[in-house]
Amino acid sequence: MTNIAFIGVGNMGNPMAANLIKAGHTVAAFDLSADLLAKAAKAGARAAGSAADAAEGAEVVITMLPAGKHVKEVCLGGLFDQLSPGTLVIDCSTIDVDTSREVHAAAAAKGFAMVDAPVSGGVGGAEGATLTFMVGGADDAFARAKPLLEKMGKTIVHCGGPGNGQAAKICNNMMLGIQMASVAEAFVLAEKLGLDAQRLFDVSSTASGQCWSLTTYCPVPGPVPTSPANRDYTPGFAAALMLKDMGLALAAAESTGADVSVAEQAASLYQDYAEAGQAGKDFSGIINLIRDRAK
Ligand code: NAD
Repeated sequence: MTNIAFIGVGNMGNPMAANLIKAGHTVAAFDLSADLLAKAAKAGARAAGSAADAAEGAEVVITMLPAGKHVKEVCLGGLFDQLSPGTLVIDCSTIDVDTSREVHAAAAAKGFAMVDAPVSGGVGGAEGATLTFMVGGADDAFARAKPLLEKMGKTIVHCGGPGNGQAAKICNNMMLGIQMASVAEAFVLAEKLGLDAQRLFDVSSTASGQCWSLTTYCPVPGPVPTSPANRDYTPGFAAALMLKDMGLALAAAESTGADVSVAEQAASLYQDYAEAGQAGKDFSGIINLIRDRAK
């Protein structure tokens, strides 16, 4: 049994914390939302009054916060002053690589072990403990984090040193964002050419155009009955979250000098879709923007 402080019990953090409690660990939770904190308490967590209060006696601190600025605010804004040397810090939020490495450095200076461990798998994966964790950090920190991550997920991949979990997450989601744009454009072109969507799916799902955006999240209703297109693009994976992740990829490219011109174009589609009031819809809904733009 491990004493765990869990900071940020939103859509993802709440079920993740619940799975740790189910596995027999003691969890003290903190969130700015009293309602979410009450929900975590219902699942068996101690509702703490602050991040520092949650960290009292914690051997492990897990953060699951919206973005880099929140992780920095929480960790460097007092939490790290409360922890004993040797504490393991696991940041599961999806944040920019530079901020992640900055927080890693601050943790190392205080004698903490740290991993960045962003996830893929969404709320369903968090509830079912089937998340994929992409982990960055030293070997010994990874070895300590792995048994806990296994209580919340199914696939745990050590991607290298500090920040490399975030790097893997950002690169993966950049591919996803580009691929959905390519699939959506192809289906609109097929419509223009008089090619039936199901026929295109039958060919491309077994040919070289095959990808997750086609075979799992097909952006037209019909070929994949479980895809968000069949429920008016209810997420799924909201366009706002895809836009956030594309933004992280573009920022990483800017800071490293990588050329990501295709990603820039794809990101502008998600931006336009969000600005059209569709940020809460599934990201595959960009097909409607692309169709509307067709001459
Ligand atoms: P969320 O907004 O539901 O949860 C974040 C929580 O952090 C909120 O409850 C908020 O009140 C809390 N918070 C913010 N600042 C805080 C502070 N200073 N102290 C304490 N609590 C604070 O977001 P989520 O959907 O749970 O996502 C969390 C992270 O996981 C994000 O980085 C997101 O990109 C990533 N992610 C989400 C999904 C998904 O499908 N939702 C999938 C993969 C990764």
